[in-house]
Amino acid sequence: MPVMYCWECEDWVPCKVPENPTSDIYVWRRSPEQRGTLGKYPDIWWFERLRLCPEEHEVKTVEVDERLLDEVIRLRDLVELLAPASSALSRESKTLVKKIKGRNRNTNA
Ligand SMILES: [Zn+2]
Repeated sequence: MPVMYCWECEDWVPCKVPENPTSDIYVWRRSPEQRGTLGKYPDIWWFERLRLCPEEHEVKTVEVDERLLDEVIRLRDLVELLAPASSALSRESKTLVKKIKGRNRNTNA
């Protein structure tokens, strides 16, 4: 039995294929073939699986190319790196907007 991560149990647990999924099969599957891609990002494709953990939680997963996982990690690292600069720019722009509004009020008075 494959060991998978269950978000509800917050642990790696052995998961089985559900005999009678409680979810409507077409709700949990994005496509009847259990696979798909996005029109906007045709390089992203996946294969879907539904498993049951020992606590009967449905574990829905999608199998993707490992390069996509690497890209997600790189993008998260980049967001983490850029977040402080973005916050500083946001604060600066708010200060500038306040100054401009203050000048306009003084000019219009
Ligand atoms: Zn679980």
